[in-house]
Amino acid sequence: MPKNLKRIVVKIGSLGVTEESGGVSEKKIHHLLHDLYQLKEAGYEIILVSSGAINTGRALVKKPEEKKMMISYQQACAAVGQPLLMNAYQKILSLWAWPSAQVLVTHEDFKDRSRFLNIRNTILRLLENGILPIINENDTVSFAEITVGDNDQLAVMVTEATDADGLILLTEADGLYDKNPKEADAKRFDTVHYTDDFSSVKIAAKTSVGRGGMDTKLRAVRKLTPLGVDVIIGSFIQASPISRLINKTGGTLFFGNPENQMNRRQSWLSTVVKNEAIINIDEGAAEALLKKKTSLLPVGIRKVAGTFRRGDVVNVKCKNKIIAVGISEFSSKELELIKGKKSSDILQMVEDVPSNVAIHKDNLLLV
Ligand code: GLU
Repeated sequence: MPKNLKRIVVKIGSLGVTEESGGVSEKKIHHLLHDLYQLKEAGYEIILVSSGAINTGRALVKKPEEKKMMISYQQACAAVGQPLLMNAYQKILSLWAWPSAQVLVTHEDFKDRSRFLNIRNTILRLLENGILPIINENDTVSFAEITVGDNDQLAVMVTEATDADGLILLTEADGLYDKNPKEADAKRFDTVHYTDDFSSVKIAAKTSVGRGGMDTKLRAVRKLTPLGVDVIIGSFIQASPISRLINKTGGTLFFGNPENQMNRRQSWLSTVVKNEAIINIDEGAAEALLKKKTSLLPVGIRKVAGTFRRGDVVNVKCKNKIIAVGISEFSSKELELIKGKKSSDILQMVEDVPSNVAIHKDNLLLV
């Protein structure tokens, strides 16, 4: 990728990790992880969104004759397939002693501020500890209203929630072509600008395995590139499938809007900040935030104004001046109780203490 890319979300489709006839493919997983490991060693932070649970479990669950039973069939396949898939991932990751974690989520989880914050914090902590987060939709509890639908959209949500710099969507086709890539004279687009209109491009049909297709991938592109995120679509079949895309040898790179690259996090936080939600802090805390870039501790809080919930974005003020905005770990009610208190004392004061800081430095933006 062209610019300072540090944190990337890689999404692999079902056929990138399973056999076409069903069941996990250790060979394919090895192919993927071998390359991911090189990137990790080169300093990238990697978050993996992996499909494949349903196709892994298929051989073990009887397919229903009735159409309306299909959802529970797929959910049963995912429930039995997900641990088998993780098992294969862990077995191969152990070659490099690279620990991994399973994170299963639904659409609802991203809509709810407090759950969103939990997902974000968990993933950031895993990365900090050198652990590979492997994310999939929690298909067992996902039915019509709460399903993300396909993992391309899930990858978009994960990219947004973790402030990732880029998203790589691995699929069979090596990017976007001007016609069906199976046709001999089909031409691949190397790069696409975020303002380019590619709506007239004919899109090849989706595969029979997995829920996405080129259509859902382009939807991901349209969502993320205006925000400044680069998106690459490319094939998982090639050697070093991700490195080659990062080095721009193959695939299609959709450039994110460069103007929004630098201040993406800022614009994201400032669009969701609750104006009336204010945490007033003392000068010592302000200095620690501004100079040492620390988290905001409850002990530095003097006053709390407005009503907000855990996970809401609030203003941080010192002497009547807004100095930062950030995601609050606690509700306004809870902060009322713990303001001015030492982190070690708050355990007894609040139920299910989410954190020992009021705003974590990862979720804080100095203004
Ligand atoms: N969650 C599904 C699975 O693991 C995949 C959804 C998709 O293919 O986009 O099988």
